[in-house]
Amino acid sequence: MRDTRRTASTLVLIGGLTLAACGTNAADSSPSSASPRAAAASSLPVTPAISASSTNQHAAFTVKEFDSFDSTSDSGWTATFQVLSSPAGNILVNPGKYDREVADFVKSIGGVDAIMITHGLCDKLRGLAAAMKTNAKVVAYIHQLGQPYLHDPKRNCSVEEGTSRTTDAKTSTFEESTTTIAGHRVQLIHLHGHTEGSTIFWFPDDNTMIGGDTVMSTQIGSASHPGGNEASRTAPIAKFKKLTFPSDARRYNGHDASTTYAELMKSNSDLA
Ligand SMILES: [Zn+2]
Repeated sequence: MRDTRRTASTLVLIGGLTLAACGTNAADSSPSSASPRAAAASSLPVTPAISASSTNQHAAFTVKEFDSFDSTSDSGWTATFQVLSSPAGNILVNPGKYDREVADFVKSIGGVDAIMITHGLCDKLRGLAAAMKTNAKVVAYIHQLGQPYLHDPKRNCSVEEGTSRTTDAKTSTFEESTTTIAGHRVQLIHLHGHTEGSTIFWFPDDNTMIGGDTVMSTQIGSASHPGGNEASRTAPIAKFKKLTFPSDARRYNGHDASTTYAELMKSNSDLA
């Protein structure tokens, strides 16, 4: 199945996570400067998934899902994305659009504290600028290897989609690590394959996984994009198989239906 679509300058060390806020112009984020980091990141040892707390169910996210597509292109991919809300904080994941429907919902929950992007393909970015403009204090996060895609219409596949889309939205970058974002403990698990910077988000205290387009219900996402190749799909498959999560963990992704972790391990042909 073809994939369906798609800053500050301080170094902050929080609970093992390095949030390196980067410049936002294309020169700062050139593919050539990212390549050595890609090699280093993909060779990281597997870090065991941090455990879910047994006393945190009261804090679990409420998850609202939206669908998006690019109305300016006949070939645009449809996508699914999420808004995670809780008393501790709210997170917008992969803003595929930020229209009245999404804006009204976000307003109803008091705004979002963070935007988290699993990877830099265009179907995950269409609503990013509008979301950041509307939520003035929000911080948007993406893996350092995904940030260059925001400025490169070929890499983010918008050229393929016929829209040639880039964004100057200011994003902060992360590497594989564990940290707290919007009041929620989160493990950022880098699964290079679908794209160089593809990362899944595991919120152990919310028993919730955001699989992006990497860990989807039926397969590990395609890697046949600029900057990737199908051979590189074997690495994220092997890495994810070494991790374990609670069987009832909720898992959401960028295109198909959500499942529990137990259901995923039966329905995903790459993992079963
Ligand atoms: Zn994707």
